[in-house]
Amino acid sequence: MLRSALIVSGVMAILTTSPVYALGDVVDCADKTEDIFAAADVIVRNWDDWEEFVEAQTSVNIKNCMKNRFEKNGIVMCESTSTGKCSKAAAWSNPLNKKIHLCPSTLSDIIEEGRKPDRRACYAAIMAHEFAHSCDRMEIGSDALDEATFDWYASTHNITIPKSECGFN
Ligand SMILES: [Zn+2]
Repeated sequence: MLRSALIVSGVMAILTTSPVYALGDVVDCADKTEDIFAAADVIVRNWDDWEEFVEAQTSVNIKNCMKNRFEKNGIVMCESTSTGKCSKAAAWSNPLNKKIHLCPSTLSDIIEEGRKPDRRACYAAIMAHEFAHSCDRMEIGSDALDEATFDWYASTHNITIPKSECGFN
């Protein structure tokens, strides 16, 4: 018993120092990649706390699909042009598709936030919104989830901006 406890704490120490423990992939995001992985990583590492917080603040019942997206199979793609679906959206995804797309206008609004914790709170919120769609949730659940996720991030990090400065509603 003592021995396995030591092994467990050893594993946790390794995970705490490893750079990422989240998502399936981040594609075409260049210098934004680190923030995106890190934001998802914060949610994955604190999954139970995040789930409890957002479920209490929303009427959404978080299920395994969301956990799988954040933890291992969600793909975040940064779009380079404001055409197609990015001409009228901050980000988009298709129901039951693991890939979500962040649009240039949103990315530039987030990058303008000079502080790392502020940027990551924005990425966490928009990922929660789009992964909810990719798990086949309606808009009302997605909107509630991005608000709650931003609030949760702000409850555990020193955030200095309102969510409205992230560049999406
Ligand atoms: Zn939406």
